[in-house]
Amino acid sequence: MITVFGTVAFDAIQTPFGKVDRCLGGSATYFSVAASFFSRVQLVAVVGEDFTDDDASIFAGRNIDLDGLQRVAGEKSFFWSGEYGYDLNVAKTRDTQLNVFANFRPTLTATQRKAPVIFLANAEPDLQLEVLEQCESPRIAALDTMNLWIATARDALTRVFRRVDLVIINEAEVRQYTNEANLIKGARQILALGVKTLVIKRGEYGVLMMTNDAVFAAPAYPLEAVFDPTGAGDTFAGGFLGYLASCAEGNDADLRRAIIFGSTLASFTVEKFSLDRLREITIDDVYARYREFRALTHFEDFEV
Ligand code: AMP
Repeated sequence: MITVFGTVAFDAIQTPFGKVDRCLGGSATYFSVAASFFSRVQLVAVVGEDFTDDDASIFAGRNIDLDGLQRVAGEKSFFWSGEYGYDLNVAKTRDTQLNVFANFRPTLTATQRKAPVIFLANAEPDLQLEVLEQCESPRIAALDTMNLWIATARDALTRVFRRVDLVIINEAEVRQYTNEANLIKGARQILALGVKTLVIKRGEYGVLMMTNDAVFAAPAYPLEAVFDPTGAGDTFAGGFLGYLASCAEGNDADLRRAIIFGSTLASFTVEKFSLDRLREITIDDVYARYREFRALTHFEDFEV
C-alpha cells in the first residue's frame, strides 16, 4: 500500500501540437492512477467545489482509496498553466494558482500513516516534512521536487532530503541543487545526504538510477508522437513506486523492473493530453510495452 500526498488540479496546457484550456491534472492524480495498476493507493489531496463527480470518475474502479480526498465548498481547485516549446523536456510555467491548496495541512488517518510506502509529490518542502513526520516508519519514503523550491527553500529541501530514502528528480534540478555540471558527481552529493536511491529523470533520454554502489540507466520508450509531456514525471513515479510497493523485497532486480514499469506508464501519458491515455489502457497494455522495452535494451555479450 502507498500513501501519496500531492495535488489534484486543473491544468491549462499548450504544446506545439495543441492546446487545452482546462483539463484534469495534478501530481497526485497522475501518480495514483499509475501506481494503482500495481498497489493500493491512499490519496491525500484537496479539491474545490469546481471538482465534479465527472472529474472524480478518473479514480473510479481503480485501487485508489479516496478517504483522504477533501472537497472544500466555496473554493477553487489548484490550477496550473504551462507551455512547452519543441524541447518538450522544458515546461514553462505561465501561472500557478494554489487556491484550496494554500491552506491545506492534512492530518493523516491511521491507515495512511501506516502505509509501507509514502510518496511526497512536489510541494513546499516544509509541508512535505509535516506530512512525512506523521508517517510511522515507512519502508520507503520518497519525494519529488521542482526548480522553484531549490531556488526559494533550499535549506528546507535539504532537511527533507535527509529524511527520505528515495528522491525522484529531474536532471536539471540535480545540477541546480548541487551546482555541479557533472550529473554523476551531483548525484553523489545528494546520496551523501543519506538518500539511498536517487532516480534522475532525463525526459526523452530516459532515467538514471544511482545508489552508493550501483548505477542503472534506462532509455525512454522511443515514441514517434509525444503530444503532451505534462504528468510524465508523476506517472513515472507512480509506476515505479507502485510496482516497488508490490515487491516483497525491493532488491536491485525489483528496482530495475520498477524503473521500466515507471517508464512504460509515463510513455502512455505523453501520447495524449491530461490523463486521456492513462484512462484507456489496461494492465495487459502495460505488460506488452514493458516487454518491448526489454527487447529494446537487450544485447548479447561478445566472444573473442
Ligand atoms: P509533471 O509534469 O509530472 O512534473 O507534473 C505536472 C502536474 O503537476 C500538473 O498536472 C500540475 O497540475 C502539477 N503541478 C504543477 N506545478 C505544481 C506545483 N507548484 N505544486 C504542485 N503541483 C504542481
